[in-house]
Amino acid sequence: MIAKTLNLLRSDGNPKNNIQTANIKRDTYDLCLPEGRKVNTVGHRTAEDFVRRRLQEVGCVPYRGDSYDLPYEGGGLSFINFAGVVPGKDSSLSPLLIGAHYDSVICAPCADDNGVAVAVCLEVARVLGEAEEPLDRDVIIAIFDAEEPPFFCGPNMGSRRFYHEQLDERGVHFALIHDLIGHDVSLPLGNQDVSVSFLKEALFIMGAESHPQLSTTLAQSDAPKGIKIGATLNRYVGDMSDHGVFRENGVPYLFCSCGMWAHYHQPTDTPDRLNYTKSASIAQLSLQLLETIDKLSLEGSANGEDHSLAYEIASFKKLMGPLLPIVLKKAHISELKTRHDIEQVVSLLMSMTLRH
Ligand SMILES: [Zn+2]
Repeated sequence: MIAKTLNLLRSDGNPKNNIQTANIKRDTYDLCLPEGRKVNTVGHRTAEDFVRRRLQEVGCVPYRGDSYDLPYEGGGLSFINFAGVVPGKDSSLSPLLIGAHYDSVICAPCADDNGVAVAVCLEVARVLGEAEEPLDRDVIIAIFDAEEPPFFCGPNMGSRRFYHEQLDERGVHFALIHDLIGHDVSLPLGNQDVSVSFLKEALFIMGAESHPQLSTTLAQSDAPKGIKIGATLNRYVGDMSDHGVFRENGVPYLFCSCGMWAHYHQPTDTPDRLNYTKSASIAQLSLQLLETIDKLSLEGSANGEDHSLAYEIASFKKLMGPLLPIVLKKAHISELKTRHDIEQVVSLLMSMTLRH
């Protein structure tokens, strides 16, 4: 089903209608300036202008009224979420959403966190907008403010204010959230990140458990070249980003991330350190998922986590490839079959790749 819908996008043979790595790279460099995008700074205001301009250039229409700006106030500060829309055939349907935060944790480029994800959302919007055949549903391009501490999970976190105060009566059919999607996954050993071939292309996806049709969709889709998916339950890692409010409110969601790395929340998280080919593959995957989920009813609720277990296991077997026996041995299990087995492997991988 995925391959078929993608053909629609490519039917005119125009390469501009495919994800362009160069666009993602340029937007990341343009957005991730040395002064950063910390709330209530001049750098943040420069970033606001960038997001506003690019939403218009990629062809989005405003989500509300005649502006992409969705301002709000809190704790004596002013914030702005941005939302543009790629119109679908039937705007009465509940829209899809792809989103990422644009604020930065420190006054530094913060390219992986989260400038490159903003660039990916913009590129997905461009390709969807230029497609010959629109999707059935509107796609909201949500660029959230105030994800970083001290706002993280607080009342002024951009995605929370968006969901509770700015979302219209159609709600959200499915939310796809990106954070930390620009780097190769490596193993932290001492003060160094050591590149390991089987982990390099890893992309962790949380939230397949949020609806049975999502795990089926992921299981049936081939990951684009350049990424290998490791699917895990969101509860293993906690709500690390803007998908939290969607999960809490029963909206089917997926959260994509390459996890933390040596440059996480550091001044060294600069645009030159990112792998834009990997980010472009993640953009391609996003496009595939939005196209497929556009047609799904997503009726009923998740009913537990068991529906995603088979997919989680299959994804980890593929991710680890020939190194599977070594990983199983290190995780003290003989095979990958049960929820307990996957918990052992995930906690091993997390202890290796996620540092706090
Ligand atoms: Zn962050």
